Amino acid sequence: MKLRKTAAVAAMAAALALTATACGGKEGSAGDAGKAPGGKDAPAAPKYTVAKDAKVDGSPAFKAAKTRGKLVIGAKADQPYLGFEDQATKKRSGFDIEIATMIAADLGFSPEQIEWKTVNSDLRETTIAQGQVDYYVGTYSINDKRKKQVGFAGPYYKAGADLLVRKDENSITGKEAVKGKKVCSIKGSTPLQEIKKPEYGAEVVELGKYSDCVQQLLSKQVDAVTTDDSILKGYAAQNPTNLKVVGKPFTTELYGIGVSKDDKALRTAINDSITKHVKDGTYKKIYDSTLGLSGSTYAEPPAVENY
Ligand code: GLU
Repeated sequence: MKLRKTAAVAAMAAALALTATACGGKEGSAGDAGKAPGGKDAPAAPKYTVAKDAKVDGSPAFKAAKTRGKLVIGAKADQPYLGFEDQATKKRSGFDIEIATMIAADLGFSPEQIEWKTVNSDLRETTIAQGQVDYYVGTYSINDKRKKQVGFAGPYYKAGADLLVRKDENSITGKEAVKGKKVCSIKGSTPLQEIKKPEYGAEVVELGKYSDCVQQLLSKQVDAVTTDDSILKGYAAQNPTNLKVVGKPFTTELYGIGVSKDDKALRTAINDSITKHVKDGTYKKIYDSTLGLSGSTYAEPPAVENY
């Protein structure tokens, strides 16, 4: 009992340290994901030109945003290098945050005109469908089931489900080695659905957000965490002494930007923004200043899908 408690306390401390170090960046610029692993200063995220007379004819979300003078963007808050909120400063950073800010600029909204709303995986479809956000950028895989409830711009990034384990773990070498192991994943996520398939034989633990799974991994309540490699690499980069990613992705996760299902005009405007900034190099600069720091190599994103 005593031992368990100590482990839990240690895990809490580790989780807190993670929160503290994830945001060591300078104040003021939107893109600080903190220091690059290895101590180098992170390159700064690009500045975005805010469009003066942006119009998205026929988009109900754009019209509502114009009227209120603010864009409401859904995001994650506990994914270092992707979608992270510093609890002390309330500042957001990461790849998804930058992509969302870049799109906002093309729609005519400055960073000051963005209101962020944290939405975890299990509430994305309802939040978007109910119009509580104008769009959502948060490691959100495009799939047909979700397309019944929401629309997707993109894809803007390709990830794949992988496994995060403790540094001293040698038996979990890939998806074929999780039989009988306790594997944590997140409600409402595609990797959870995947790992629950009987063929894996894993004992699955379902929690509400990824940082909770990581905490359970550190305190040895679970043996692995599964989700997209992009997310897991971020946690490993924050805590390389205790965590590692197995490195054998076993699904394809194409990240899209969630919009209201019938808002084709907004979907097209977002697609145009992505395509433009992949071409002009802004996308690569964003990547290098955020996700690239967690050890993923750069790859050009797949072409957007206009449907
Ligand atoms: N990309 C996966 C999904 O959309 C996992 C990451 C997440 O939960 O955000 O379900």
